[in-house]
Amino acid sequence: MALERTFSIIKPDATRRNITGKVVAKLEEGGLRVVASKRIHMTREQAEGFYAVHKERPFFGELVDFMISAPVIVQVLEGENAIMRNREIMGDTNPKDAAAGTIRAEFAESIGENTVHGSDGPDTARDEIKFFFADDEIVG
Ligand code: ADP
Ligand code: MG
Repeated sequence: MALERTFSIIKPDATRRNITGKVVAKLEEGGLRVVASKRIHMTREQAEGFYAVHKERPFFGELVDFMISAPVIVQVLEGENAIMRNREIMGDTNPKDAAAGTIRAEFAESIGENTVHGSDGPDTARDEIKFFFADDEIVG
């Protein structure tokens, strides 16, 4: 097993409902450590850049509008197999399909407003961490 880092966002539906601590508790209980964290309000340009991979999808405009609708918490998480582990703790994209006990099963409001983002592989993890964090902001 490898010690990895992954990138996480606690999305506007969670900051709006003041449940960010509950989300972080799930991540920590699942074996991940927060090694960088900041609360930001994304600009439209940042949200469009971050989600550029989805720009042809029909929900792109809705996704960008949602992600800039309130603050978010961007984080770097570290742990054994952190990328896949985070995806397991998050649950499926659609909360209706998410396994019991996952963040999305417990907290997500819809497939769009689904509480968390998590990188889906090593390349995206590296790129997404770099998108929001300088090396000296990640403090282990
Ligand atoms: P995940 O976040 O699980 O990796 P995707 O990368 O497929 O999922 O999608 C990115 C984000 O776009 C989702 O987390 C969700 O906020 C939004 N999204 C995905 N599918 C839909 C959809 N059918 N309708 C509205 N929003 C969606
Ligand atoms: Mg994704």
